[in-house]
Amino acid sequence: MNRRRFFSSASLGGGVLLVQPQLLANIPNKSPKLSPNPNPLPIAISTWNNIKASKTSGDSLERGEDALTSAIDGVAVEEANLTNRTVGNGGAPDRSGTVTLDACVMDSTGNCGSVMAVENIVHVASLARDVMEKTPHVILAGNGARKFAIQQGYTAVDLLTTQSRELWLEWLRNQEYKPVINAGNHDTIGMLCIDKSGNIAGACTTSGLAYKMEGRVGDSPIIGSGLFVDNEIGAAVATGVGEEVIKTVGSFLIVELIRQGASPQQACQTAIQRIIKNRKKLDFQVGFLAINKQGEIGSYSIQKGFTYALYRNGETKEFNSKSAY
Ligand code: ASP
Repeated sequence: MNRRRFFSSASLGGGVLLVQPQLLANIPNKSPKLSPNPNPLPIAISTWNNIKASKTSGDSLERGEDALTSAIDGVAVEEANLTNRTVGNGGAPDRSGTVTLDACVMDSTGNCGSVMAVENIVHVASLARDVMEKTPHVILAGNGARKFAIQQGYTAVDLLTTQSRELWLEWLRNQEYKPVINAGNHDTIGMLCIDKSGNIAGACTTSGLAYKMEGRVGDSPIIGSGLFVDNEIGAAVATGVGEEVIKTVGSFLIVELIRQGASPQQACQTAIQRIIKNRKKLDFQVGFLAINKQGEIGSYSIQKGFTYALYRNGETKEFNSKSAY
C-alpha cells in the first residue's frame, strides 16, 4: 500500500486512529480569546543582534509583503553575509571541511517546508519555501535538496570561505569538539514576522554547529523544534545546541503554552526550565524567542548573552534577553 493510500484508509476509520476520550479531556478545545492587537503592526523579530536582517524584514512588511516573504527576505541578509560563520555562505564547515546548511519555513496557513544538510546553496530558507510550494513534500535532505535547488535555478557556490577554511585547518590540529554557543556568536537566525493583515510566519536558517559530525542535523530545520507557527496563537524560534531543543520540541511547546494562556515570556521560560531540569551539567546555550498574536514578545535563554533584534514602528533595536543563569 503506498503512503497516501495508507493515510486515507487510516483516516477513513479502519480503527487505526482511535483516541481515548479521557486523553482529549485535558486538551482545551478552544483557542484562548485574544483582545485586539494593541501593538502596532507590522512586526519583525529575529534571534541575536541581526539588526540588518530584522530591518530588511520590517521594510519588506512595510511595503505590504506577506509575513513569510518578509521573514525570508530578512534571513537572506545573513545567509549572504560572509562574515557570519553560523549561517549561509561563510558558515563553519563540518569536521570533514564541508559546509552544509539547514533551514525551514512555516506560513500562516500552517504549511511548512524544510531542507537539511544542503551543500553549495546560499539561500536555503527560500529553498525550504520552494519545497513547501513546489513539491508534495515537507523535507528534502542532502543531495536531493541540492539537485532540486539547481533545477529551480539556484546557483551552486562553494560555501567554504578562505577564512572558514583556515579556522577549520586550525581546529583540525586538536579536533576538540565542544559545541558551546557563546554570546559573541551570531548563531542561527530565526525570524518571526506579523504582517499588516495580522498574519504570522517564520523562517529559521543555519550552518549548524561548527565542526559537527558529517550528516549531523540540529533543530533548526525541524518544524516544532527550531520553528513553529500557529497563526491563531503565535510563533517561536530556537537557537543554541539543537540536540537539547529537539529533545523537548521547544518551539511547539512554547506555542502550545501560549495557547493555554501563558504569555510569550512565561512560555519561553517554561521551555528553558524543561531543558534545564534534565541536565546536570549546563555548559551549553539554548535561547528561545516567541511572539503572540497580539504582538507581545518573549525571550529567554539558559546562559546570559542571548539578544534579539526587533523591528517595530519604523525602528529596529537590539534587546537583551533574560536568562536562567
Ligand atoms: N541550533 C543550531 C543547531 O543546533 C545551532 C545554532 O543555533 O547556532 O544546528
